[in-house]
Amino acid sequence: MKSKINWTAFSKKEPEERIAMLSEKMLLSSANQDYLKKQALLPLDVANQMTENVIGRLALPFSLVPNVNINGDYYQVPFVTEEPSVVAAASYASKIIDKSGGFKTKLQNRQMIGQVALYHCDDLVKSKMAIKEAEKLLLDIANQAYPSIVKRGGGAKSLWTEEKDEFLIVYLSVDTQEAMGANMLNTMLEAISSELEKIAHADSLMAILSNYATESLVTATCEVRLNYLSRNKEEAKILAKKIELASKLAQVDIYRATTHNKGILNGIDAIVLTTGNDWRAIESACHAFACKDGQYRGLSQWQFNTKTQKLEGQLTLPMPIATKGGSIGLNPSVQIAHDCLGNPKAKELAQIIVAMGLAQNFAALKALTNQGIQAGHMKLQAKSLALLAGAQHAELPLLMKQLIKSKPMNLETAKSLLESIRNEN
Ligand code: NDP
Repeated sequence: MKSKINWTAFSKKEPEERIAMLSEKMLLSSANQDYLKKQALLPLDVANQMTENVIGRLALPFSLVPNVNINGDYYQVPFVTEEPSVVAAASYASKIIDKSGGFKTKLQNRQMIGQVALYHCDDLVKSKMAIKEAEKLLLDIANQAYPSIVKRGGGAKSLWTEEKDEFLIVYLSVDTQEAMGANMLNTMLEAISSELEKIAHADSLMAILSNYATESLVTATCEVRLNYLSRNKEEAKILAKKIELASKLAQVDIYRATTHNKGILNGIDAIVLTTGNDWRAIESACHAFACKDGQYRGLSQWQFNTKTQKLEGQLTLPMPIATKGGSIGLNPSVQIAHDCLGNPKAKELAQIIVAMGLAQNFAALKALTNQGIQAGHMKLQAKSLALLAGAQHAELPLLMKQLIKSKPMNLETAKSLLESIRNEN
């Protein structure tokens, strides 16, 4: 059981004070505390091993969303994002949802799918039957190609075929345990492809993992009590109905659906990135899942339940996330992120990530249907412009105040206001 942590005034503190609080709460080892305090980056020699033609490292803000209640456990969720307001919105939504009972999540399954695309098949029906008869042999070949995953309790589990145009596609489903499994599957698929060519009397065009991870689905749900939407009961009901309508709009209009899903991915990518996972893989899986019925749609659904008088949210996503493999063990900041979360297994991490997608979505829809998104963004936009204009920490409050009142609110205005402030002092 992960308990709620008292983070009084966490958002008002300086980064060094937040690091000290994390250490007090036993979320950071002393080595990791020193690492964060020194503002250490990924060591250059490690970066140079990770990709090619390395000339440096690019740093991004590393934040924490406190006390996210998922199935009764409280998680301290690490977020890496360059976008202002994402962390604040996730924290705000998580707090309201905690007070309304927290997130409930469910892992539907956790296997990765890969494919061998066969072509030049003389007789598709005969080839399909031959492959079906050889299923056990093919699964054995796949498992012999990657024996360590079988020892860990995973391995190739099933195989099936589908005809698409001139292709006979063979799909392999693999339990990849704690890994995402791209290299694992590719090894297995390449191992079975020459046997498949023989059995099916066909040629293999390619053998590769699919990022459409329909066997790694996770569902997160939550309820929001009306009093957290507005103190005025009637206003709260109107807002709940507007959020339901906004969810409907994202089902029928692709322009809205794309932005609706971008908001969900604001929360998803922020954890996927910080936990050292392949965010392109997750992005492509989620977008493909958004058009599973032929039309690109919003990934979440919200309904106002008139019986319970609560707003109900639901989000199902493919979430083939890993806690081992790839570059996860190489980046010290990634280890800190896993430590903050309490080092969850892949199945648990996948559920935390989908819950954060739903939190982010709720915050965006509430802002959009209430005061509009710009009201909340004005202050953050003013801060970005003030910083871009060259304002120092102490100059920010006054410059931001003047900037919000000015028209047009742009960099030129920020620079000229900063100059006047400096001339007056
Ligand atoms: P790896 O190739 O790193 O394989 C997983 C590693 O984790 C293995 O070395 C495995 O050890 C180790 N491991 C340790 N403990 C466990 C455990 N409990 N369960 C599972 N593995 C464990 O990673 P993946 O195969 O997951 O591939 C992911 C990488 O592939 C990412 O970097 C991704 O960016 C990249 N990639 C993605 C593609 C895509 O998405 N289409 C395509 C190609 C690459 P052992 O071998 O001893 O079992």
